[in-house]
Amino acid sequence: MAFGQPRIEYKTNAQMRSMHEAGLVLSRALDAAVAAAAPGRTTKDLDAVFAAVLKDAGATSNFLGYHGFPATICTSVNEEVVHGIPGGRVLQDGDILSIDGGAILNGWHSDSARTVIVGTVDPEDQRLSDVTEAAMWHGIAALATGKFIGDIGNAVDDYVTSVPGKALGILEDYVGHGIGSEMHMAPDVPNYRTNHRGPKIRPGLCLAIEPMLVRGGIETAVLEDDWTVVTTDGKRSCQWEHSVAVHDKGIWVLSAPDGGAAKLAPLGVVPVPIP
Ligand code: MG
Ligand code: MG
Repeated sequence: MAFGQPRIEYKTNAQMRSMHEAGLVLSRALDAAVAAAAPGRTTKDLDAVFAAVLKDAGATSNFLGYHGFPATICTSVNEEVVHGIPGGRVLQDGDILSIDGGAILNGWHSDSARTVIVGTVDPEDQRLSDVTEAAMWHGIAALATGKFIGDIGNAVDDYVTSVPGKALGILEDYVGHGIGSEMHMAPDVPNYRTNHRGPKIRPGLCLAIEPMLVRGGIETAVLEDDWTVVTTDGKRSCQWEHSVAVHDKGIWVLSAPDGGAAKLAPLGVVPVPIP
C-alpha cells in the first residue's frame, strides 16, 4: 500500500487551525441543511440552504465544479449510497437522507457528512444510521489510540461486526482520504479490515473518516448521471463523515464544534485543541 501512493501532506499547527475554521463553517452549513430536511422539501432546497451558509461565512464549496459536480452538497436518498445530485426530488416521509458537504476557507478544506431520517422513522433505518455514526467515532478514536492508518478500518470493522442483531455491510468501493490543501489527498482510509497496515499515524496528518454502511449487500453501481452510487440490491444505505487532525498533543475533530469531545468520551478519548 505504501508503494505507488502519492506523498502525504503533513500540516503545521497553524494550517490545521485554518482547517478547523473551515470545519466550523461546514458544521454550521450542515446544521442548516439537516434542519431544512423534511418531507415535501426538494434536495435542491437543501443545497441552497447549505450554499447560503458558506457564502455568508466567506467560504467556497469544494464540491461545486469538482470534476464537473453541479452542486455544493451530495444528497443521497435511501438506496443511493453517495454522490447523489441535488435536484427536484421531493423528500418523502420515511426517507433516509445522507448529506455530504465541504467548505474551503483561506485555501484549506473540510469535508463532513451526516444522515437524517425525514418524517416517520423506521427503527431499522435508525439503527443503520446509529451504527454508521458510532462506527465513524470508533474509527476516529483509533486515530488517537492506533499506530497505523489500517487501525482505523480495523476499529470500524470490529465495531460493526460486534453489533448484535442483523448484520450490516461495510462498503468497500469507497473509502476515506487525506485532506488539507485539497479535498481528496493521500492516503486512502479503508473502513474495513485489510492486510495492509498503511502509513504511520503521526502529527500533521489530517483525514476524512467516512464509513458507509448498508442494510443489504455491499455491491454498488453508478447511475447514468455518472455520479449517483446506488446499492445494486436496492437496500438502504448510510454515511457519516468527519475531518480529523492529528497533532503532537492529540487529535481534534475539525468539523465538530466540540472537537468530538462528547462522542469520543464514551470511547475513552479526550480530544485536545490544536496548539
Ligand atoms: Mg464527504
Ligand atoms: Mg470525504
